[in-house]
Amino acid sequence: MAERKTLFADVIIPIPVRNEFTYRVPFEMNDLIKSGMRVVVNFGKNKLYTAIVSKVHETAPTNYQAKYIEHLLDDYPIVTGKQYQFWKWISAYYMAPIGDVMNAALPANFKLASETKITLHPEFEIHNSNLNKRQMQIYDALEVQETLNLKEISEIIGIKTIHPIIKQMIDDRILISLEEMNYKYTPKTALAYFFKPEYQTEEKLNELALSFENKKSKEKQLHALMLMLSIGDFKQGYEAPVLQKDLAEKDVSLSALQTLVKNGILVSERLQVDRIGLNANELKNKKVLSEVQQTALTEIKEVFKEKDICLLHGVTGSGKTEIYVELIEEQLKLGNQVLFLLPEIALTTQLIQRLSAYFGDKIGVYHSKFNQNERVEIWNHILHDHPERYRIILGARSSIFLPFQRLGLVIVDEEHESSFKQYDPSPRYNARDSSIVLASSFKAKVLLGSATPSIETFYNAKTNKYGLVSLAQRHGGLALPEVFCADLKKERKEKTMHSHISSFLMNSMEDALKAKEQIILFQNRRGYTPTWTCEICNWSPSCKNCDVSLTYHKQTNSLKCHYCGYVSAPVGTCGSCSSNRLRMNGFGTEKIEDELSIIFPEKIIKRLDLDTTRSKNAYQIILSDFENRKIDILIGTQMVTKGLDFDNVSLVGILDADMLLNRPDFRAFERAFQLMTQVSGRAGRKKKRGKVIVQTGRPDHWIIQKVIEHNYLEFYDNEILERKNFFYPPFYKIIQFTLKHRDENQLNSSALEFADSLKDVFKERVLGPEYPIVKRINNLYLKTVVLKIEREISHKIVKEQIQQKVDEFYAIAANKSIRLVIDVDPA
Ligand code: ADP
Ligand code: ZN
Ligand code: ZN
Repeated sequence: MAERKTLFADVIIPIPVRNEFTYRVPFEMNDLIKSGMRVVVNFGKNKLYTAIVSKVHETAPTNYQAKYIEHLLDDYPIVTGKQYQFWKWISAYYMAPIGDVMNAALPANFKLASETKITLHPEFEIHNSNLNKRQMQIYDALEVQETLNLKEISEIIGIKTIHPIIKQMIDDRILISLEEMNYKYTPKTALAYFFKPEYQTEEKLNELALSFENKKSKEKQLHALMLMLSIGDFKQGYEAPVLQKDLAEKDVSLSALQTLVKNGILVSERLQVDRIGLNANELKNKKVLSEVQQTALTEIKEVFKEKDICLLHGVTGSGKTEIYVELIEEQLKLGNQVLFLLPEIALTTQLIQRLSAYFGDKIGVYHSKFNQNERVEIWNHILHDHPERYRIILGARSSIFLPFQRLGLVIVDEEHESSFKQYDPSPRYNARDSSIVLASSFKAKVLLGSATPSIETFYNAKTNKYGLVSLAQRHGGLALPEVFCADLKKERKEKTMHSHISSFLMNSMEDALKAKEQIILFQNRRGYTPTWTCEICNWSPSCKNCDVSLTYHKQTNSLKCHYCGYVSAPVGTCGSCSSNRLRMNGFGTEKIEDELSIIFPEKIIKRLDLDTTRSKNAYQIILSDFENRKIDILIGTQMVTKGLDFDNVSLVGILDADMLLNRPDFRAFERAFQLMTQVSGRAGRKKKRGKVIVQTGRPDHWIIQKVIEHNYLEFYDNEILERKNFFYPPFYKIIQFTLKHRDENQLNSSALEFADSLKDVFKERVLGPEYPIVKRINNLYLKTVVLKIEREISHKIVKEQIQQKVDEFYAIAANKSIRLVIDVDPA
């Protein structure tokens, strides 16, 4: 017998601890265990966790007795060495515990814990399946008990290594975790038709068609049948579904379809639309690039010969997507995988549909709110480098964590979007910046696209760190919209305002509506009125948990806190002096909707904001109604600024530009320019030149001027000087510390102590402690300390020094109850 080695494994446990832990490998696992596999380990007070093996070795830990690994869950590594290195980088750079990174990276289904409740998959049918003995036992037990956790199942069938069996059964859709079952995700469905199995042969269908021919009464059914055949994707037999919508578009009569169902020829069934969309049975041909696009594409390829990163700066409507398509196709030909990062999946259905129409099954949409089984499915396909499916991942930030094998290209669309940065929970990573690190480990290329690049990115392009390719014209020679100002001061003085709408905007709205064109109004504040103030004593109703005033929501007739969700009844009198002279200040989307519905009672007015899109498909419904011109005026928060492409929008109104300009944040001007330019870009995308009206009290403000001129370059030149003069990114890196505690005095003394200890090392680079704008949220008082570090200084050393200071801070008993949040490169 071969000598038995005593092996140990370092593992990452999905809890917020900085270290990895060493466990003893039971002898029977010696030949099986590899880094990247999942194991079950006992940690702390007898709790079991799914952990990832990072290293197998022969060195026993010196300061504790290693416990045995309980189970080995995988027969192959599910996390690659590259991924592990990437996790380590994220953990170090963003100062996040490696366990937090693991949590963010792995789909929840990979983290089966012994408490996970399992039930039978609702779509599983026992009669057409072939279960082995153990699976049968589990099936029987679940028939009786309905739900069981892993521990119970393990006891019932009497084996310890239950995880691999359950995992396999989940993969085979025999079982499902209860969490997954109850997942709120209710997919939008659409009615589709299939041929009954007995008709699924060419012979049968021919026979049927013949029997319908030359019969007046069967004419419509024959038409329906023929169209089923011409639309359906029947490459592998006649079993594919055809959507009713597609048939109806080709004038197939509904009653003919129903008759075919009644006569047992077709079956109708509701299918999940997003799944069908992705299977895209009608693939579209790519568009032929215009000369300008072709030049840009060539330039990008030239850049990629010398550099790994290129910025595509293309104005709104310049046709960036078609250039992405060409680059993606080139990668597919090379057999590579492509990662396409989008700021928010929910807000980019249009783009997903466009790309799916070209690439069909090769696209996978990966999103943390998605069905967990699908996430695991995509994970496995990517891991095994499946040659056909999921070669292109369209994903929100968490898709950077997929186990790529042959990543060739990363595209970051709308790279300036702040939602690429995760704020809560830790790791507080920026997916755009992290994807650059990810790409470099594959020697893959990165294309950043935007009409309004972030200052940091453009700086990198200007200083030749990145390549730069520009598209200055809209596709098809369309002009960029014409931007005007409505001078609020003047209109107020002349009393021409209609409540919050200037007469300039009002007249333009009337013209647009008369011409049957659509309007988008942008107001970056939801609710009705954000502040009520007593005219006598200045009192305002405020949240009992937070230090902010409450926003009135008319629909629910309530006052809401937008920070913690606290709701209270509206007040009629001042809470301080009891006067009833409460004045309402400011306005949100809801108020505008209300006012406009009185002015334009016959028009359809809808609102797109957090309050109207809480249910899962609400967003899609509003958008498709708008696209189909069932809505005349769409009022929205920044949700309306994202890359939407509507062809009948002739007018965009920005209702309160000053609110955007007045934010006390070093990025306020950058964000204001981006938001105004992006929302302007929604106007006039297909036919005539669009019109944008910016309502402002400061029409001469330089940011407004640059928006009017569509002059990104001058905006950048001004802004970069400010950044340099005031020590902001990209010249300095910012690390922000937020300290939180219930007790204000305790917080103040701890924050002061922490800032002082940082100052010992970093000197005048430390600012604060200061109260943030909202100094109390959810009953916790907040103080921030900001560290500004020269770009040139090694971030590694800085972070080690910070970590040491944090450790010293927590070594003091009085600080133990303080929460300290570290945000590297805050957005
Ligand atoms: P961007 O993403 O730069 O804002 P899009 O890619 O959405 O621009 O393109 C703007 C519009 O122009 C879209 O409606 C798109 O279908 C159309 N378009 C772009 N390129 C072409 C092309 N080569 N041929 C035909 N239409 C195009
Ligand atoms: Zn609150
Ligand atoms: Zn009062």
